[in-house]
Amino acid sequence: MVLEPTEPQKAFLAEVTRFAQDVVAPRAASIDESGAYPIDVMRQAAARGLLGITIPQAWGGLGLDYVSYALAIEAISRASSTVGVSLVVHHSLVADILAHAGRTAQKDQWLRRLASGEAIGAFALSEPAAGTDAANQQTRAERTARGYRMTGRKVWVANADAASVAIVFACTRAGVRGQGVTAFLVPMDTPGISRTARADSLGVRGLGCMDLDFDVEVSDDQVLGSVDQGFRLAMWALQGGRVGVAAQALGIGEAAIAEAIAFAKVRETFGQPIARYEAIQWMLADVATELEAARMLTWKAADAKDRQERSRAESSMAKLAASEAAHRATDRAMQIMASEGYRRGSTIERLFRDVRATEIYQGTSEAQRLIIAQELLADA
Ligand SMILES: Cc1cc2nc3c(=O)[nH]c(=O)nc-3n(C[C@H](O)[C@H](O)[C@H](O)COP(=O)(O)OP(=O)(O)OC[C@H]3O[C@@H](n4cnc5c(N)ncnc54)[C@H](O)[C@@H]3O)c2cc1C
Repeated sequence: MVLEPTEPQKAFLAEVTRFAQDVVAPRAASIDESGAYPIDVMRQAAARGLLGITIPQAWGGLGLDYVSYALAIEAISRASSTVGVSLVVHHSLVADILAHAGRTAQKDQWLRRLASGEAIGAFALSEPAAGTDAANQQTRAERTARGYRMTGRKVWVANADAASVAIVFACTRAGVRGQGVTAFLVPMDTPGISRTARADSLGVRGLGCMDLDFDVEVSDDQVLGSVDQGFRLAMWALQGGRVGVAAQALGIGEAAIAEAIAFAKVRETFGQPIARYEAIQWMLADVATELEAARMLTWKAADAKDRQERSRAESSMAKLAASEAAHRATDRAMQIMASEGYRRGSTIERLFRDVRATEIYQGTSEAQRLIIAQELLADA
């Protein structure tokens, strides 16, 4: 058993870490402050191939494994978790689905552009009444002579502000929930898409989240995978996405611990640095241990995906453990930094806000526990 990345994975991580430190980190505070999608950073990521990390080389991507991807997302999220999760949506929820289920013409049209960064992808599953209950799709795609007419509303669509294409899920067979949902590849400039609102948020600001109203015509060529089988595709993609969100959470947690350590070494009370107090040391030891345990789960889930093993429980465990460990890490770091951390505009204040979303999107912590329990009880 080897519990560390291979030499090529380490070399890729070193390259991505340099990019994260030189390009992403200096923009993190301004992305948060403005709430504007960081298209400049994404273009620079694209120039380094980082919009095609997992996309096969045949379609212009780097063709790397999921462990490399998880390492990259952690390093980038340590600098800016907004950039990190934007890349997770683009890769796990859009490019991976296309590579897995797309027809050659669809890959030719979109996968190459996603790999080069010419196009950014979005994933539109959630609706006002379909969040955790994602099978309760109210968006309808009804048969017409030329294809389908799709009508409905999607909410919290990350990357929508900058995306050229979205994978949109719609009900094609009523009354059977997840058995009657189809995935469609929809260019964002299709007539009939209204970007109704830009969702403002507590954290991961700048993710380009929008609510979208659809009244569009789509052709049979835009069906991704098979008709009525789209919900399976969404659930498959979310398994990869959860590895990405776990990696994002690890990056946030690591950044919080680093902030707290740097502070604890220089802040003195009663004539000595607070790092000398056991109360502070124990907080650091606990969160570092939890984060490292979550990292092992994340690598395990990524490795299982690389081996094409069934990893439904593993990816949920990774996301659950990493998001909750990172939440505690930012909370303890805030405690260690006290008023300095609580100051609006401090790095820890941003991390504290950013981490919360990792327990909500791509399935809440309760949804992850339900999935893990379903897997545990499958044969009971
Ligand atoms: C920043 C951000 C970005 C997002 N990006 C995207 C995106 O790109 N694409 C997309 O499609 N969606 C996206 N979402 C939506 C996200 O996936 C949903 O918010 C999430 O799945 C939870 O759904 P909900 O908010 O409707 O909560 P609800 O489903 O209304 O849940 C409310 C509460 O009830 C709990 N709950 C619900 N059902 C159960 C149950 N059976 N057992 C126990 N507890 C339960 C939940 O855990 C939660 O605590 C994003 C959300 C955010 C905040």
